[in-house]
Amino acid sequence: MKISAMAKKLNATGLDVIDLGLGEPDFDTPKHIVEAGCNSMRLGETHYAPTAGIPELRQAIAEKLNDDNMLEVTADDVIVTPGAKMAVFAAIQATIQEGDELVLIGPSWVSYEPCVSFAGGHVVWEKVDENFMPMDLPEMVTSKTKVMLINSPSNPTGAVFGKRVLEEIRDLACDKDLMVITDEIYEKIIFDQEHISIGSLPGMIDRTITINGFSKAYAMTGWRLGYMAGPKESMKWVTRLLSHSVSQATTFVQRAGVAALRGPQDEVQSMVKEFRARRDMIVSGVRALGIPCSMPGGAFYVFPDVSEFGGGDIFAERLLNDSMIAATPGSAFGPRGNDYVRLSYATSQERLKEALGRIEKLMN
Ligand code: PMP
Repeated sequence: MKISAMAKKLNATGLDVIDLGLGEPDFDTPKHIVEAGCNSMRLGETHYAPTAGIPELRQAIAEKLNDDNMLEVTADDVIVTPGAKMAVFAAIQATIQEGDELVLIGPSWVSYEPCVSFAGGHVVWEKVDENFMPMDLPEMVTSKTKVMLINSPSNPTGAVFGKRVLEEIRDLACDKDLMVITDEIYEKIIFDQEHISIGSLPGMIDRTITINGFSKAYAMTGWRLGYMAGPKESMKWVTRLLSHSVSQATTFVQRAGVAALRGPQDEVQSMVKEFRARRDMIVSGVRALGIPCSMPGGAFYVFPDVSEFGGGDIFAERLLNDSMIAATPGSAFGPRGNDYVRLSYATSQERLKEALGRIEKLMN
């Protein structure tokens, strides 16, 4: 957000900065979803709703989690939140106490660690291989570890955890009696693999909090709508937290959420098709310049290794100052990200082509 704000400010002065810092789809919310939200307002649904969400949306989410994710949950297990970020915050507050440890796998989304700090806990950063898959998982677990948090497809790496990796995490969680928080917000933006929810693996439903939302799949970042499903005790705690803080997600926004889940999904599919074309273009472009870059299986980011070119901080600074490209240094995603820079491809192919041309000039 900080990088994009900086790019916007520079653009306003007449400079042509290409913003590859964006963390949101460059598409509009589908019209039928907008209509459902507007209609709800016109119908007078502008009052308080239950803390855990309107029954229709909780039911639609429960059905989605059963059908798409093989999670055996009912509407009672589901809580609607104002954005997935609030669900992440609440899930961490519900599971981490003073002095507890939470394991994060490799470079991870910027908000996880601050949420753990708010709860008085500490993050342990799990090592990853060149494709951002976990290495030596059991070594990171101590007597203080309470939670492993996973995010597949991942922001910032785009990595997707397959069944084998998820089973390894499951085995460790069951062996050491850990909770798993799984942030699946990029679930629909996936290219070569099928998304697997860890909560669907045998033995996991009672120790998994599954988080998802509408921001990415339905281009609804500004609507602020997310959700979570998990064990009763944790969900009871989360309901208390919401009840005494934000109260609930906005009532008519929840109607838009029902339309998103129950309505046509063709716009999601065409968005994913476009993202795939951009991913292929940017990965091959970056690799052609001699910059190592793993092939992301999902989300809308590439995370090239720029350690040979001064590391992420220096590279991002030079991109901005010399090439007028706004990108996020990997260090924003924890100590495992220092060698990298995150390039978002939530921008047109034309702009990406222009960006690759500028990076080529910089490399030369
Ligand atoms: N998790 C991850 C991994 C994200 O990248 C984001 C958004 N950048 C969120 C959660 C938060 O999403 P929301 O807009 O639903 O709060």
